[in-house]
Amino acid sequence: MSEPPFDYGRYEEGRHVNYWRLNRPLRREARRAYPDAAFAWAEPKLDAFGAAVGDTIADNADVVDEHGPELRTHDRDGESANEVRYHPAQLENERLVYGSGIVADAFRPPPDREKPVGLLHTLTLQLLLAYADTGLVCAQSMTAGAALVLENHDEAGHYGAYLEGLTARAYDDVIEGAMFLTERQGGSDVGAIETVAEPRSPPGDSDDATEAPPGDSDDATEAPPGDSDDATEAPPENSGDATEAPPESRIYELTGTKWFCSNVDAQATLALARRPEAPAGTAGLSMFLVPHVLPDGTLNDQRYRRLKDKLGTTSVPTGEVEFDGTTAYLVGEPERGFAYMTTMLNWERVTNAVGAVGIVGRCLLESAIHAANREAFGRPIAEFPLMRRDLLEMAVDHEAILAFAMETARRFDRYERDRDDREAFRLMRLLVPVSKHCTAQVALETTSYAMEIRGGNGYVNEFVTSRLSRDAHALPIWEGTSNVLALDVLRAIEREDAHEVLFPFVRAHLDAASHPHLVALAETVRGELEGLEEAIAALSTATEADAQHGAKELTEYVFEVVTGALLIERAQHELGRDHDARKAIVAERFVRRTFGDDRGIADGAGSAMEQFDAVVRYDRLDPAALDHPA
Ligand SMILES: Cc1cc2nc3c(=O)[nH]c(=O)nc-3n(C[C@H](O)[C@H](O)[C@H](O)COP(=O)(O)OP(=O)(O)OC[C@H]3O[C@@H](n4cnc5c(N)ncnc54)[C@H](O)[C@@H]3O)c2cc1C
Repeated sequence: MSEPPFDYGRYEEGRHVNYWRLNRPLRREARRAYPDAAFAWAEPKLDAFGAAVGDTIADNADVVDEHGPELRTHDRDGESANEVRYHPAQLENERLVYGSGIVADAFRPPPDREKPVGLLHTLTLQLLLAYADTGLVCAQSMTAGAALVLENHDEAGHYGAYLEGLTARAYDDVIEGAMFLTERQGGSDVGAIETVAEPRSPPGDSDDATEAPPGDSDDATEAPPGDSDDATEAPPENSGDATEAPPESRIYELTGTKWFCSNVDAQATLALARRPEAPAGTAGLSMFLVPHVLPDGTLNDQRYRRLKDKLGTTSVPTGEVEFDGTTAYLVGEPERGFAYMTTMLNWERVTNAVGAVGIVGRCLLESAIHAANREAFGRPIAEFPLMRRDLLEMAVDHEAILAFAMETARRFDRYERDRDDREAFRLMRLLVPVSKHCTAQVALETTSYAMEIRGGNGYVNEFVTSRLSRDAHALPIWEGTSNVLALDVLRAIEREDAHEVLFPFVRAHLDAASHPHLVALAETVRGELEGLEEAIAALSTATEADAQHGAKELTEYVFEVVTGALLIERAQHELGRDHDARKAIVAERFVRRTFGDDRGIADGAGSAMEQFDAVVRYDRLDPAALDHPA
């Protein structure tokens, strides 16, 4: 590594800095994950975004935490307003974030490229954004997710104008997306949804909804994509409000209540509801696009009851919504809504994982800066063996979840580029719930400990650590709780045989090890892989109850084995290319503490003191340091 070791003592806090430049492991991960040409294009954008997040966006995020969105239900004449109001600091952040191309560049060719750059780029930007504002990560991710759903499942292109707005480059043209699933009686149990969708047209006319020949409709899809200027010429209030309605046969009226609706005032909300006569459970759910404003300019008949008084993620307004004959447009085939929604759910889960990494990255930065500057007993606290160990472990945690989340992001991106690639699908299908669950757990632990490293001030709201912790508490709950994700891992194994793709994937990473130190580590992980294979094989004869009982442990076992293999492979890469043994130390600490028999009580401080500069301060480590077998 040509850069000098990082000097945390130079900074007062992890702000007014460039988060991209400071996160050296992320830069390496991204360089490996992006295709070469794409990275050359992306690097200056990531650099500029890292600077913006570290400066204006981080400052504004603190203001927004105190001045969150407010609901204005009625105007002064008593008419329904259904409006969420934002502090100017939040609007400035949104302008900077959407203006960076965070959504647009994944779906449309940026001005200086022939093709869109893909979702991996969006996810890397999201990781940086999570250093400052997890609520905003949620909001723009909903927007990208709704676009992804429409791109994949609105095959007839009825909602092309919405897609234009969701993926608009200019902030004034952007419309936002949302997903309304959860109802009071069911969040995890999506099949319990009771919201009813009645066709607006007389019975008999609606059944041909999906068969209307495209030429019969006069909606936005008739214009070739490049010709449509609906989005760009619309007033700043956002073009999605003014889009035309789809064919009458697709228009429904929704009745019911949605209980947790983030980005509640989105102009392109995707909601699940049940048509009359549709079967019970998830098989009977259809997807609807709920416009905020109808084509004639009037407000749609949905009522925002209130905004939730949440622990954190203040910048994204999460509300309750009552549908009462609300106009909604059927997306795709009827009764395929849950399948379509999994596109969005998987996307949101990957977002959640990279967001967790960003939060942990910020915690590490804040903690290391504080430890370098705060003195106790006459010395900077970073000099104490216990604190060195704490920071070392935090850095290892950060790089463990970074490797897993970025690999998941890459696999998700790969699948979305070629949805016919079954292998990519099966691997993505397993990595996503594991990634979401395990990164969230690390974020919870890390944010909690980062508060403690700051001492009493860590518990005070004027310091960012408490907000990071409050925000992190959403991570295990929204987009599927830990248990729900563990059950999803079981389904990926039982229905998709996803483990059959996972095992060779892990072996290939372990086989990359050629340095004796890493070969020894790889042997340890190979042994654990066999244990994992046995555990998964045992599922075939286990009762459903037994399988569920062990599902969370199994999920975490997958994370540990895969992460061990990923870190070893990256360590070998850095040894070979850069003659740098730093990552080998990270891999060793992860493998030993995860799979080792001892707790490291008798390790002695010596090695940790030496390793601190390499791991926490990103100092290059001479491979000669690996002079003993792991
Ligand atoms: C900040 C925030 C924003 C949100 N935004 C949205 C949004 O935009 N759109 C949306 O649709 N929803 C949203 N949600 C809702 C969220 O997705 C749900 O709260 C979550 O899925 C859990 O559903 P629930 O609240 O009904 O809890 P329940 O489903 O009742 O779960 C309660 C507990 O039971 C456990 N449990 C449930 N089933 C099982 C099982 N089979 N086995 C073992 N344990 C089980 C769960 O793990 C959980 O611990 C949001 C939530 C939060 C906190």
